[in-house]
Amino acid sequence: MKIGVLALQGAVSEHIKSFAALGIEAAPVRLPSQVNGLSALVLPGGESTTISRLMKDFALVEEVRRLAQQGFPIFGTCAGLILLAKKVVGLEMDTVGVLNIAVRRNAYGRQVDSFEADLTVDVLGATPFRGIFIRAPIIEAVGEGVKVLCRLDGVPVAVQQGRILACSFHPELTEDIRFHKYFVDLIVKG
Ligand code: GLN
Repeated sequence: MKIGVLALQGAVSEHIKSFAALGIEAAPVRLPSQVNGLSALVLPGGESTTISRLMKDFALVEEVRRLAQQGFPIFGTCAGLILLAKKVVGLEMDTVGVLNIAVRRNAYGRQVDSFEADLTVDVLGATPFRGIFIRAPIIEAVGEGVKVLCRLDGVPVAVQQGRILACSFHPELTEDIRFHKYFVDLIVKG
C-alpha cells in the first residue's frame, strides 16, 4: 500500500510521518499522474485558498473529484476538509466538493483561533484524542450519507462519508496515530 499526500502547500511531511509510524509508505503528490498506483490520498491542512488555486492550476480539482466519486479513499484535515466539502462559506474557489457537509472557514473566531481539546471518538476507543485546532473551519451542516465520528460542544469535528474521512483539526500534529490507522483500515476493508 502506498498513500499519496497532496503536497502543494501545508502540513505534508507530518502526514507522511504519521503513516510511517504505522509502517506505511506515503509520498507527496503534485501532479495528477502521480496518483497512479496509489491506494489513497490525503488532503492536508494549510490555506484552502492557496491549495485550491494550485489544485486548479495543476488540474487536480477534477482528478480528485473523479477519484472520490469512484470510491477512492480520501482523508482531509482542516483545509483538506474545506476542499472536500460540498458547500463552503468564505471561499470563492472551485473545490473538490464531494463531501456532503457545509462548512464556514475560520469560524471559531479570533480569541480561540487555535486551541486544543480532548475529543471522545467512539471508533477510536475509550482514550480521548487530543484535537489540535488551528484556524479551523466549523461544520455547520451535515447531509445525507455522512456519519459524525466526533463532536466538540455539539459541533461535528470529524466525519465520514463512505471512504472519505475528514476532520476540522490536525491529527497529524500529534503522536497519536489512531486517526491515520482508522483511515488505513478504511482503505483495507473498504
Ligand atoms: N484557515 C485555513 C483555511 O481556511 C485552514 C487552517 C488549517 O488548515 N489549519 O484554509
